[in-house]
Amino acid sequence: MTDASFPRPARRFETVGFSEIVRVRNRVMELLAAGQKVWRFEGGEPWMNTPEPVKAAMGAALERNQTRYAPSSGIPELRQAILAKAREKNGIPCDDESAIVVNGGMQGLFAAFATLLDPGDEVLMFSPYWTPIMDLIAYHQAKAVLVPTDAARREGLAKTLARLTTSRTKVLYWNCPNNPTGDVFSRREVEEVAEFARRGNLAVISDEAYEDLVYEGEPNVAIASLPGMYERTITAFTLSKSYSMTGWRLGYVIAPARYQEAVKTVVLYSTNGVSTPTQWAAVEALSRGTEFVAQWKAGYRSRRDRLAAGLKAAGFTLESPRAALYLFPKLPSWLGTDSREAARTLLDEAKIATVPGVVFGPEGEGHLRFSFSVSDEMIVGGVEALAAFASQGARR
Ligand code: PMP
Repeated sequence: MTDASFPRPARRFETVGFSEIVRVRNRVMELLAAGQKVWRFEGGEPWMNTPEPVKAAMGAALERNQTRYAPSSGIPELRQAILAKAREKNGIPCDDESAIVVNGGMQGLFAAFATLLDPGDEVLMFSPYWTPIMDLIAYHQAKAVLVPTDAARREGLAKTLARLTTSRTKVLYWNCPNNPTGDVFSRREVEEVAEFARRGNLAVISDEAYEDLVYEGEPNVAIASLPGMYERTITAFTLSKSYSMTGWRLGYVIAPARYQEAVKTVVLYSTNGVSTPTQWAAVEALSRGTEFVAQWKAGYRSRRDRLAAGLKAAGFTLESPRAALYLFPKLPSWLGTDSREAARTLLDEAKIATVPGVVFGPEGEGHLRFSFSVSDEMIVGGVEALAAFASQGARR
């Protein structure tokens, strides 16, 4: 809406979208408010509560009146815990200043793009991709160059990346494990991409939000752990998925010396750090390593497998993902090929909420994203509702 009698918002917002996933959620809220039962698979967060010892650690911090300003890049105890984790678990050769505490993975990513991008710079990113990244790149007036993942795997990752590189290419955005596909690149693939980044002198923004949610096969390889990569990589990690702490808004960035000051500056002038008691809770969480998530994995696997079986029975095509929280099946013919249309039909007529695949890039068209990180009741009821609707659909 423009009105010449008032100053308009900055031009950059003309190219930044507002999450379509949020729009799906708003429609779900309307249905719920109207008293309808909705089978909700549109979300993207762990289904269990934050572990008790983590909550208790925040309470203890409040008791000790640890409620005042903290250094904006994080309390020393938390930065130390992060450094130990990134060195030992991820194998990243961090220097002592490289851990910077941020408000969730999202702020880490925002700070990483702000650190690296000038207007007109190009960013290589595999597609399907996590939707907000496109908008973060647009916000910085840079250009996203999509690398179709499946086709690149057939053609060769480095070969495809080379074909899409121009003199403006500066950054490679890397998301492994991937949202929405749940794919994990193999060590050999990560090495190939790292080699490409080194040769092309690219910076890498590595989004490893799902590092701990790998259910089978080899674990995630942190790209910054490979030779010569730490120096050119900003890695965004988060406690959201690993510790069931989505609402706490706590993440951290591992950045090499040349990028640390810029990341710290973004944090200082945006949020000036994460709430102090939350940081104490994070110290407790990290001290437990992967103890909690290890207990949750069987529950995730079972939900994934039951939902996948239900989707297959309804005619969807999918391979079971190795990681993350999502199934990303191909639509059955009775739902057509337009993912927005299919998601709308499922929501309006069967009260099943999903995210249209096309919001994750053109390579996602023809797919829907279902989160399997939901309650047992949701899996059982959602699969039943889908089966009933599919049998009507097949008759139509
Ligand atoms: N990266 C990816 C790929 C994600 O899916 C998410 C959350 N959905 C994030 C980063 C950010 O998570 P948060 O801001 O909750 O830490």
